Amino acid sequence: MDQAEPVRTPASWVVVGLDNGGTCNNATVLDATGQYLVDHLVENPSLVTEGPELAVEQLAEAFTNILELTSTPPTLVRAVGLDTPGPASATGVISSKGATNFSMKSWHGFDIRGALEARIGLPVFYNNDANAAALYAHHQHFGADAMRRSSVAAIVGTGLGGGVVDNGRVISGAAGMAGELGHVQIPLHGVLEADQPVPLCNCGFEGDVESIASLTGIKNNLLPYWLTKFPDHPLAAEPIGSAAKQLRGYGEKEDPLALAVFGQQARAIGKLFTIAANFTDPHAYLLGGGIVEAAPRFRQWVLNTIRESTQLRDEQQAAATFALVADLDMAGARGAAVAALEGVQQRRSTDGR
Ligand SMILES: [Zn+2]
Repeated sequence: MDQAEPVRTPASWVVVGLDNGGTCNNATVLDATGQYLVDHLVENPSLVTEGPELAVEQLAEAFTNILELTSTPPTLVRAVGLDTPGPASATGVISSKGATNFSMKSWHGFDIRGALEARIGLPVFYNNDANAAALYAHHQHFGADAMRRSSVAAIVGTGLGGGVVDNGRVISGAAGMAGELGHVQIPLHGVLEADQPVPLCNCGFEGDVESIASLTGIKNNLLPYWLTKFPDHPLAAEPIGSAAKQLRGYGEKEDPLALAVFGQQARAIGKLFTIAANFTDPHAYLLGGGIVEAAPRFRQWVLNTIRESTQLRDEQQAAATFALVADLDMAGARGAAVAALEGVQQRRSTDGR
């Protein structure tokens, strides 16, 4: 840990990464040599609940603040990367039906990318937060080889996010909805018990990855079922939402109920990765989310179970790795910055400069 130098000054031109969340924006600066100029969260209030006008102003303030903090002259900034929670289009237009973080009517169909670009007068590159996190995970894992490698990242939280990266670039899709890994339906054979109801997702799908491998899946589907098998378990006396949150602590202590639940989650992610193996055949299968902060022995067991449940051909076994990705609290801002850096480099090569 380099505590003595938490903030660097730029060695070249830079891009700024802005991660827009429900309560905070997080900002970072990445220079053209691939160095992040801050090694910690730099936040300001996002004010998304106050509507687009104030929220865009807050993003502009996050931009100004991070340049001041890193002593970066504004003339060195070539572009900005922005990520927000979805659903939004590939070009940063919030869904016409709104979204969890953007419920006010004025957000519906709002072009947050275009608005920020107009406000700060620099090109803005957009990704949804899950894709930005997957992009960061990919670059963190592969370093200098990132642009020659592909990966799939599953990030387990309240839902299941993630993304698909090919040759260092995140696949965003025609409508911006590529890499919605949580809503991929998987074969349930080998995942569920014979008498277990088919899990239902908030999106309306049955038996997709998020209906099993997410905190919401534990609360709505897995824990209610497994508590019928362990009626005397201490969590049976807790409200289901709080019981679901406590379950990881039990997993670390190798509690049989918790291991049954997390085993099902790991096998579901293995089924997802098996689909990925036949789809983009990535170099790396990455796992992120709260599980990475769990006790080492427990998280390694989860990763091993995922690996055992992913059916790879021999050639793929030899070529692919499975890994945990850390530092995800900064992943949105850092992934957004990586996307902006790539965007600038791509434009320069297309322009022949
Ligand atoms: Zn779903």
